[in-house]
Amino acid sequence: MKFVSQLNEFYVPTLEIDHGKIVKNPEIPSRFEKVIEYMETNHEKISIKDYPLNYIYFVHPKWYVEHLKKLSEKAKDGEYLPEVFLKDRILDSGTPITFSTFDAAINAFYATLTGADELLKNKEHVYVLTRPPGHHATSNLAGGYCYFNNAAIAAKYIFSIIKERICILDLDFHHGNGTQSIFYEDPNIIYVSIHGSPELYFPWISGFEDEIGTGKASGTNFNFPLKGNITWKEYEPTLDKALEIISKFLPSVLIVSLGYDIHSDDHMGYFNLDGNAFKKIGEKLIAINIPILFVQEGGYNKEANFEAANNLFKNFERR
Ligand SMILES: [Zn+2]
Repeated sequence: MKFVSQLNEFYVPTLEIDHGKIVKNPEIPSRFEKVIEYMETNHEKISIKDYPLNYIYFVHPKWYVEHLKKLSEKAKDGEYLPEVFLKDRILDSGTPITFSTFDAAINAFYATLTGADELLKNKEHVYVLTRPPGHHATSNLAGGYCYFNNAAIAAKYIFSIIKERICILDLDFHHGNGTQSIFYEDPNIIYVSIHGSPELYFPWISGFEDEIGTGKASGTNFNFPLKGNITWKEYEPTLDKALEIISKFLPSVLIVSLGYDIHSDDHMGYFNLDGNAFKKIGEKLIAINIPILFVQEGGYNKEANFEAANNLFKNFERR
């Protein structure tokens, strides 16, 4: 399998406010240092190209992009934690801005579209291993460590070229409130998410079953909220249901928002899935026979991330 990697080693946020306390921010480059080793040994790396910012404007208005740039520039003497949430256009206190936030988010956008182009060229599965993540970013609000919604930009970009239906399967532990809201009225991009119930977990505001899309897109948004501590036994039938829905829509491309925080050893997520579960997820994804663009989201435990990637992508290795 081909992969793109852009870990933005220069971008290391240190703080966030969680439950009213200042704590260490886990969205740091080292979370993927073992995943990258595995990928470089077993898969084919492709180099990243630059893209015009116009493609970001498919999802985020120009004023929002410029606003993030300004916030980053202002943070040159330290790290800025949002104070006036709506004015800052940041949804929560877990999403700081450093001097390099904007540059890192732009690089992640380059990496994602490089992956999208590779998929379009060869109709093969591609993995975009990058950070900061994207699925909590709405069109005009950052949040949950996310600034630009990489998976959503990829979906819009691919759709602009192929004009055929695309599905997004969000497997991160947390509901992708940003991606859902971006496509809530768009019948061409189907959003399907399996996640920890928003009654119990971040992002709290969305991810309920009755959120099904609106207007022409009514019936194209699917949420599968699950309780914490579930094992493969409970996860598997839900994943099967999600994949059945995706197959019925006959998408030309599947984008997987990939969060390793569903692994049992991840301290930000509360499912009990082990390496073997990731192996089975990989087998099921290969079996639906649609070219997949994997776009990295969460996953905060270095070892768990390695075990997840190594098992998930085992069947994608070149034989
Ligand atoms: Zn997550």
